[in-house]
Amino acid sequence: MPHNNPIILAIDTSCDETSIAVTQGQKILSNAIASQIELHKQYGGVFPTVAKQAHKDNIEPTIKAALKKAKIKLSELTAIAVTQGPGLAPALEIGITKAKELGQQLKIPVLPINHIEGHSISVLAQPTPKNKNFKPINPQFPVLSIIVSGGHTEFILINKIGSYQKLGFTLDDAAGECLDKVGRLLGLGYPAGSVVEKLAKKGNAKAFPFPLPMTTSNDFNLSFSGIKTHSKNAIKKLETEKKLNPKTIADFCASLQFGVFKHLTYKLKKLLTKIEIKEIWLGGGVAANVLLRANLRKIAQKKQIKFRAPYSKKLTGDNAAMIGVAAHYLYLRSSKKELETLKKTPIDRKPHWSIENNSI
Ligand code: AMP
Ligand code: MG
Repeated sequence: MPHNNPIILAIDTSCDETSIAVTQGQKILSNAIASQIELHKQYGGVFPTVAKQAHKDNIEPTIKAALKKAKIKLSELTAIAVTQGPGLAPALEIGITKAKELGQQLKIPVLPINHIEGHSISVLAQPTPKNKNFKPINPQFPVLSIIVSGGHTEFILINKIGSYQKLGFTLDDAAGECLDKVGRLLGLGYPAGSVVEKLAKKGNAKAFPFPLPMTTSNDFNLSFSGIKTHSKNAIKKLETEKKLNPKTIADFCASLQFGVFKHLTYKLKKLLTKIEIKEIWLGGGVAANVLLRANLRKIAQKKQIKFRAPYSKKLTGDNAAMIGVAAHYLYLRSSKKELETLKKTPIDRKPHWSIENNSI
């Protein structure tokens, strides 16, 4: 019999973190993350073969750690969830292979999950309370999910969980990617987003005015490559004039953040004049940024729209807890027959899987 409160072991190996979580409904029983950031720093980005090997090395111990923290035995699991895409193909492969192996061993379904769906649903993932009083979040639809990460910047309309429509997306770089690339030019290391945020606190956001992109287009798409090019030229000028110093770097970070978020909020405000929604959800690595959260919350409040962001920074970057919570809803909406099929169906990596084609 299908369960109505399944216990799920979720796996995410989409990029540079090996993450394993145990979840039950919206409740996170554990969320273990083995980060590879240190390994990739020397390359200034994620190196696929290095990522694949690190996932291979980390996956077993991370599964053990997640089960131990959750105090759950393999035999108690109802289903396995795994990120099928989007992401780095060789990295995805490690998680999928392990998920299928566990599914077959335990004779339980393996639920393939879209990583961007996971980021959208990350706002619903909650810690296990010390007392027994767990109150699930009961969202009101329609929802506008804003995904701001290192690889994606998207506005997604959610009419119900499982039904997604992209209303706008970046035509070139993602917002996080732009912060990372400009941060690198400023010598801030990789990934630079959180360093930009820290330095920006001491800087003047008006010191380096950025052009606002795509104000004449009537769609809700975004573009960050102009901000990147503008930055490149401005930094070159500062270098030539020997004016690149801690003060100008802090000013540049504050101005860059202001420019990137202004573009996003400009498009959001435009979008909100066209659609009626009840809630705004923020997800993805850049969702850790306090200024971005404050800007979006302000816009939502003005329109009397509920604003939600992940409760912890551990849920903004890549993590498997969000995959487990997304899988919970997929499990509940699947028939007994579909769940049986999910025990046997092979899962292929989908490195470019769009959230709109969430076919299961
Ligand atoms: P993800 O692609 O979801 O793994 O998120 C990683 C991206 O989030 C990278 O581009 C980081 O630079 C960015 N990021 C992480 N923390 C922050 C922060 N506090 N402010 C801005 N960007 C951030
Ligand atoms: Mg991600």
